[in-house]
Amino acid sequence: MIVGILKEQHGDKRVSLLPEQAQALAAKKVQVMVESNAGAAAFASDDAYRAVHIPTVSRKELLQQSDVLLSIHPLSTTDLELIKPHAVVIGVFQPLFNHALMKEWAQRSLTTFSLDMIPRTTRAQSMDVLSSQANIAGYRSVLLAATLFPRYFPMFMTAAGSIAPAKVLILGAGVAGLQAIATARRLGAVVEVSDTRPAVKEEVMSLGAKFIEVDGAADASKAGGYAVEQTEEYKQKQQERLAASVAKSDIIITTAQIPGKKAPLLISEAMLDTMKPGSVIIDLAASTGGNVFAARNNETVQRNGVTIVGNSNLAADMPFDASKLYGKNVLNFLQLITGADAGLQLNFDDDIVKGSCITHGGNIVHERVEQLVGSSYA
Ligand code: NAD
Repeated sequence: MIVGILKEQHGDKRVSLLPEQAQALAAKKVQVMVESNAGAAAFASDDAYRAVHIPTVSRKELLQQSDVLLSIHPLSTTDLELIKPHAVVIGVFQPLFNHALMKEWAQRSLTTFSLDMIPRTTRAQSMDVLSSQANIAGYRSVLLAATLFPRYFPMFMTAAGSIAPAKVLILGAGVAGLQAIATARRLGAVVEVSDTRPAVKEEVMSLGAKFIEVDGAADASKAGGYAVEQTEEYKQKQQERLAASVAKSDIIITTAQIPGKKAPLLISEAMLDTMKPGSVIIDLAASTGGNVFAARNNETVQRNGVTIVGNSNLAADMPFDASKLYGKNVLNFLQLITGADAGLQLNFDDDIVKGSCITHGGNIVHERVEQLVGSSYA
C-alpha cells in the first residue's frame, strides 16, 4: 500500500504527517511518499522528509500512485481526475455540511474517511482531530484577541496608574472553549462562561472562571456529549442573561456549535451595539454560520470600533504543533485500517471505522450523512 501526503491548498500551513511520523509509518512496511513542499509551511522541508527516506514527488505523481491519500481539506475535481479508482482519501471533510461533495465522491467510488466524524469515545480519543485542533484554536483565539485588544489583559498597579484586568466572555465550553478559558486566565483576565450543558459548570469553575447559569436547557444526554438545539424560550432567557455580560466584556470568544446544524446566533445586533469601542470578538463558529451577528467567515469586520474576527481554522495558524497532533491522530487511525501485511484492512464492524467512513463502494455509507444528502436532493 502506498500512502501519499498531499500539500494543503488555499493557504493552510499544516501537513497531514510530519517527517518523523511518515518515517514511523514507513517502518511498518507501508510505502510513503510526500508531495514536494507539502510540509514547508509547517517547517518540515523536503530535505527533512528525504533524510528519513520519504521520497518527495510532484502532486500529479502522488495522486496517480497513492492507494491512500492524506489531505486535511477536500481534493479538487482536477485532483480527482488523476487518482486511482477506489482510492482511499483521509481528511476532515465536514460531510454533515458538504452534501454535494459527498454525493460526487460516492459516484466516483472513492472510499473516504472524514476524521471529524470519529465517535467521541475513550477508545477514539487518540484519533480525535476535532479535539486536537480545537484545543489549539481555543489557545490561539485568546492570543489573537490579546494582540488586537488595545489594552492589557492582566491587572497592573504601576507608578503611572492602575490597569484593570480585561473582562473575557467565552460562549461554549467544549474543547476550544475550555482551552480559551485556561489561556485567558493565565494571561490574568477575569473570565465568564456560558454553555447549554450544565455538566461543564464544574470544569469552568475549576479553571477559575464564572459560569453563567441559565435554567431549562434541552436534554443533551443522548447526543454523545454534544449540544442539541434549544427551545425559543431557552434562547430568549439565555439572551437576557448574556446581555449584561456582553455589554461589559472587552473580549468575547464564541465556540458554540451543534453538529450538523447551523451554529446558534448568540450575540444579536442589539447586543453588539452595547459593546465598548476597542473590544474584540473572535467567532470560532464562523464556518457554520457564526455565533455573532455581523461575523463573516474568514474575514475581520470593524463595527462601531469593535473588531469581529470570523475564523474557524485558527489551528492552521500554529502549523507545527497542529500538524504534529493531527499527524499523530492520522497515524493512530491508519493503524486501525492497516492489516499485518501492511495492506488496507477495513473492518466495518469497528465503530470508529464505521463512524468515520462516509463513502465506499459507490455509495454514501454513513447513515446520518446519507439521510442529510438524501433530504437536500429530495
Ligand atoms: P462543539 O465544538 O460541538 O461545541 C462547543 C461547545 O458549545 C459545546 O460545549 C456545546 O455544549 C456549546 N454550545 C452549543 N450550543 C450552545 C449555545 N446555544 N449556547 C452556549 N453554548 C453552546 O463541542 P466539542 O468541543 O466538540 O465538545 C463536545 C463534547 O464532546 C463535549 O462534551 C466534550 O467533552 C466531548 N468530547 C468527548 C471526547 C471523548 O470522549 N473522546 C473528546 C472530545 C470531546
